[in-house]
This record gives sequence, structure tokens and C-alpha cells, in this order.
Amino acid sequence: MAMADKEEEAYLLSTGRHLAESYAASRDAVHEAAPTIASGEDLQRCLESLRWDVPEQGLGSQEELLKLLVDVGKGLTRHSPRYFGFVTGGVLPSAALADWFVSQYDCNVQVHLPNESIATTLENCTVQMLLGLLGLSSQTFTGTFTTGATGSNILGLACAREAQLKLLNAGQGDEEWSLAEMGFGAEECRRVKVFVAKPHASINKAAALTGIGRRNVVDVGRKWKGQGEQAAEDEEQEAQRRVAGLDFDLDRLEKELEEAQSLRFGRIVVVGMGEVNTGALSSQLPAISKLCKRFKAWLHVDAAFSAFVALLPRYGWISEHMSLADSITSDGHKALNVPYDCGIFFVRKDESQSDSRAKQLSVLDMVCGPGKGPGPSYLASSAVARAGVDGQDQETKKRQELADTLPSPLFRNLENSRRFRALPVYAVLLDQGMQGMRAMVQRNVDFRRKIEEYLRRPGSPYQVLTPRCRASEDTAEPWTNDWNTTVVLFRAHPKLCPVGAYKEPNGGHLALTDAIKRARKAYVSPTVFEGIGGVRIAVSHWATALDDDGRDFRITTEVLDEVMKVK
Ligand SMILES: *Cc1c(COP(=O)(O)O)cnc(C)c1O
Repeated sequence: MAMADKEEEAYLLSTGRHLAESYAASRDAVHEAAPTIASGEDLQRCLESLRWDVPEQGLGSQEELLKLLVDVGKGLTRHSPRYFGFVTGGVLPSAALADWFVSQYDCNVQVHLPNESIATTLENCTVQMLLGLLGLSSQTFTGTFTTGATGSNILGLACAREAQLKLLNAGQGDEEWSLAEMGFGAEECRRVKVFVAKPHASINKAAALTGIGRRNVVDVGRKWKGQGEQAAEDEEQEAQRRVAGLDFDLDRLEKELEEAQSLRFGRIVVVGMGEVNTGALSSQLPAISKLCKRFKAWLHVDAAFSAFVALLPRYGWISEHMSLADSITSDGHKALNVPYDCGIFFVRKDESQSDSRAKQLSVLDMVCGPGKGPGPSYLASSAVARAGVDGQDQETKKRQELADTLPSPLFRNLENSRRFRALPVYAVLLDQGMQGMRAMVQRNVDFRRKIEEYLRRPGSPYQVLTPRCRASEDTAEPWTNDWNTTVVLFRAHPKLCPVGAYKEPNGGHLALTDAIKRARKAYVSPTVFEGIGGVRIAVSHWATALDDDGRDFRITTEVLDEVMKVK
């Protein structure tokens, strides 16, 4: 679509306005009534209408295409403020609008071409803004956008592995040693161990993909000491027992690190800030960081959805704790409410570098870059552009100078060609500001707390599976205040639930989950927590409880009440 600049601007503005207005106008209708999942009939119809081969003749008309898209939509789950499955987030209108622009421009964020496009610079700005938002120093950290927290965890383990093996071999006098360069066949390629406590499953995937191996992921979670005696009778103690393993056994971690060091194994510790099943925060980063320093281990923090809780004044400590990490995983498509897919990865800059360009680099550039070889010649950007810099005007030179201080996006990612994922994030951060972001996180935390109170009310047919949080001044102390900030796990109360089917030890939680989901008004997902089947609610949508008439709470608890009336 070739258009003069003015025409294009008019087109983008008018279509953009139209989209923005429709998002606003449809919001209430969509949120009040829209089902969270497809109905059985719709699914069946969609399934039957799926084509498995390419038709010779295309659809032919736009009407038909629209109808097809709407039909497919009926077979999908919706991002609704009462969709509490997994941690899916929603899409802020500002993010949806920016995402439409991303497809309009369809620019590929892979090469710095500062005199042709601002995309790579904007991506860098956005990384800086995110660091600022999360209270992390952009002097210390650099980062990039990935496909999700899994992608970020893969980058994290790849960086950790490279840095650790390099360190081991530098100690043996080989400063140049690099696994990224030499591969597994290299002499002195040592084993790498990853120490965890109840990590997200993607850590195992990352260990497999990076060649570390799933067997080298060692769970050093705390064992419950008071087990046996009164555990079965006392509900609170039983809940305490269940959460024990979410924390590291620090003595054991110390022993494991010491042993790994003596065997000259690479050493990585992965700490979850916001454990995916329970939402539990970790208070152990200062202690673990000390151990990592002592045993020269890499510290990776997986804060996929809980990093943004640090925006709330009471949780400022999360920023301080995260800043102890060597690398950090977070997600844009969860708590930040930008569309799929968008992950965030931060890594410590290489402190040994001296010139301003090299100072921006990290081990990530060693892992994803060309190494010692030259980069692909058809992608050369700055070097080529700089060749003619002397003959250029002042502004062109300035743009070039700025670009020269930015790391090459090509050399810090799994992908080469990439979607302009930064734009929706940029739009959201400017649209919401600190206040809007804080309010969004606060709404999610508050909603979770209200649901927990409802589940715990006297005589409730439900039982919450995590311990009751005590009030405390020390906000970093576990299981105080709002320790599981946006997630709540529960099951049918073994005594007070009137429906036998929900209490079955085998699959009762599935029956309960199913009954709640079937109403299509609120979505929950089943889980197993320390051998106990449960139902999980994770609050992450920007619009949950946005309306102060309490609609989302009312509808959700109506469904929870309703399923208990079944005989
Ligand atoms: C969701 C999640 C992941 C995986 O993230 P994706 O974005 O789905 O790849 C990793 N770690 C934690 C703690 C998570 O919550």
C-alpha cells in the first residue's frame, strides 16, 4: 500500500481512533457478558468447519473473511477480567492499539539502522524504562525482549553456563575459553549444576535446550521438620508444611555449592520470585546472593509475573532483592498486560569493559553474537553506516553516535528477525505512567486478597491450601501480609463442603474446577500442590475489579456459591 506521508498519517489516525473508540465502547459489554471459554457447541461447530487443506479458490470477499474470523473467535478462550487460569494477563487498550501499529509497520527489529529507522533505539529506551520501573539500575543491567519467560530463562541459563565455564577455565589459565565458541567437544567442557527450589517447569526445558541437562537441575528445597506429629489435624500447620519446599534449604545449598566447586562444576542458582503455582515470593535472595558470591555461582531470578509487584511501596524490597541477580526473567504478556508474545530478559553488563560501547555488552552478546568471527556481512549496520560519517551533517552524526553506544539487537537474541514487541510495552508505560501501573498491580493484589477472605470465611465450604499470612512490619518475611500476592489455591473443605464429588481424593478437585468453569463466567485451573489436588485462581488482568461496583467479585463468588448448591 503505497501512500504519501500525509495520506498515511490520516489513515493511521482515523483507523487508530476508530479502533480506540471501539475498544472503549465494547469494553463493558465484553467484560460483563463475554464467556471465558468456548461452549461445547461452538467448539464442535468450529472443529467441523476447520479446513485442513488449502482451497484452490480463496475466500473472495472481505465479508466472508470477517465471518470466518468471528467464527474462529467463538472457538477460543477470551481474555476476560475473570479469566483466572494460568497467568495470562489481558491486553490494555493502549497495548492493543500499539500492537495494531506493529503489524501496520511490520518492521523487523534486528539491525541498527539509525539513519533509517528508530525501532532499535526505541527498543533500548523501553528496556531502560522497564529497568527504571522495576527499580533496577541501567548502569548495572541491560536487556532485551524475548518470546516469553521461557525464552528469557533459556537466555538466562545460556548466559550462566557460558560465564561459569569461562570462569572455570580462566582459573586454569585459559582466558579465551568459551563454550559458545567451541561447543561441547571442547576440552575442559565441565558439567554445570543448577540449584533450585520448586522452579517453573521452563527451567528444566532451558536446562535441556542449553545442554546442561535436566538431571543436573537439583532441587534443594527445604524439608518440613515438624512432619508427622500433629500435622494432619492442624490445618494451619499442614498449610505450613506444604509451603516448606518453596524455600531453599540454605545449609544444603551451601554444601552443594561447595561440592560443585571442589569438583570444578559450573554453578547456577535459580530463584523464583513469585512461584508459579502458589505465587509465593522468595525472601532468600540476600542470603542466596551471599552464597553465590562466596562460591562464584551465577544467580538467575525468575520473576515472570511478580516483578511488577515491586511497584507497590510495601514490596519495594523486591527491587532490592532482584538487583542482586546476574540475570532476571520477566514477562510482558502476563502482569504488564501487553499481548502475546512478549518476554523480558535482563542481564548484568560486563563490568570489566572500559569503552562506552563495550560497557553496554554482557555475556549475552558473547552467547548470541558472532563471537570472534565477523557478523554476517549483509547485516552489517553501524560499521557500514559509519564509513561515510565524516561527510555527514551534525544530526546524522549524533544519531550514529547514539546508535554506537547501543548493543546490536541481533547479537542478544535467539531470533534474528523479530516483531517490534517493544512498542506495545512503550505505549503501555507512557499511557499508564507509574501511577497507572501501580494501581493495576494493586487491583490484582487486592482482588486476590478479597477472594481469599471469601474462601476463608467462617463455615466456608472451601479450604485455602497456603498458610494464612500474619501481619508483620518486616515485609520480606515469608508468609506475612500478602505473601502470595496474586494467586490463591483452594479445594473443597474436607468437612464443610456439602458436595461429595468435590471431596474425592482422586479427582475431586477436577470435578470442582470443571463445575466452576462450566458456568463460563469465571475461569479457574486445576493444580496439584504437595500431592493435594486444588483449584487455582491467578489474578493478572488489567480490568479485574476496575469497576468499583464490585462486579467481578460478585460474579466470581456467585459462581463459587452456585457450584456448592449442586446435590
Ligand atoms: C509463566 C512463567 C514462566 C514461563 O513463561 P512463558 O511466558 O509462558 O514462557 C516461567 N516462569 C514463571 C515463574 C512463570 O510464571
